Amino acid sequence: MPKQSPLQRPEAFATTLGAWFATHAKDYPWRRTTDPYAILVSEMMLQQTQIPTVLGRGYYTRWMERFPNVQTLAQAEEAEVLRTWEGLGYYRRARFLQQMARTVMERHGGAFPEKLEDIHALPGVGRYTAGAVMSFAYDRAAPIVDGNVARVLARLCDDATPVDSTEGQAKLWERAELLVQAAPSARAHNSALMELGQTVCRVSSPTCGQCPVQEYCLAKEPASLPVKGARATVTEVTERVFFQRTEEGVLLQQETGARRTGLWKLPALPEVEQLPAVLHKSRYTITRYRVTLWVHEAPPARKGKPLQQEKAARVIPHDDLANLPMPSPYRRALNALLAETAFRLEA
Ligand code: SF4
Repeated sequence: MPKQSPLQRPEAFATTLGAWFATHAKDYPWRRTTDPYAILVSEMMLQQTQIPTVLGRGYYTRWMERFPNVQTLAQAEEAEVLRTWEGLGYYRRARFLQQMARTVMERHGGAFPEKLEDIHALPGVGRYTAGAVMSFAYDRAAPIVDGNVARVLARLCDDATPVDSTEGQAKLWERAELLVQAAPSARAHNSALMELGQTVCRVSSPTCGQCPVQEYCLAKEPASLPVKGARATVTEVTERVFFQRTEEGVLLQQETGARRTGLWKLPALPEVEQLPAVLHKSRYTITRYRVTLWVHEAPPARKGKPLQQEKAARVIPHDDLANLPMPSPYRRALNALLAETAFRLEA
């Protein structure tokens, strides 16, 4: 008898998947709570960061200790919010969380909304995140489609429609909705689909022999799925900044661009005829940019002169450096430079 996909037997599929999850669920702090705020925090952190980083380096725990509810987050200084987020990157997420907290305070009197449309209307909350809060916090039958769920569904249905196309997305959300509607617990079902993608139906080496839902899976060549559209090309970018340190502190500049507003960095190197000596070089990647960060000595006109104010720049005392929010590549560069120059302060 030919196999039947989960779409043909959604209740049976949900029962089989649920039974597997009951004995294989990983223990994460956000699975021990039904607090929608805590779940939203975890979802925002996990949007662009892996679970081992969020948990292993203590970001989630630190955040929840410092901002245990929307009230504390709404009232916090932005600099402290960004400093607590530092290391996770994509700082827009931290700002969205604070905007979300303030919106919940102002629009909902401090009580987290329970309707899908109200959650979806919060700053930074898209369809996936709204579905995650609805299902994980309130156990309501809202679908979620992230990378793991998309891969599992594409394989189960043996569907080669590009998952990042409009048509592919429409199919995925429709299928996820049909399946979650048939599940006895939306919380367990959505968690199970994600976990199946993380641990069994993995990107390059799915372990189909150990898969609890193999009897529903139509994939002929699982590793070839899901199909994705053309990748965005990576652009090489050069950033040149300078390092000037005195006994009072280090000259830093506050960012004003959309992506990193409020964060501090070494000041941009002004136009000079000849580039000053390089003190530090590193590379990092952000979205589709591969950045080479060059840290130079201060330009000659500045050496030995009082520190002039760059745009939005000031000398930060050494004791305050650790408390300023700073993008990780700059934090690493600054720490390396401070260690190197600890015994040779500028005159
Ligand atoms: S049988 Fe293989 S391809 Fe199909 S869902 Fe399970 S792990 Fe994924």
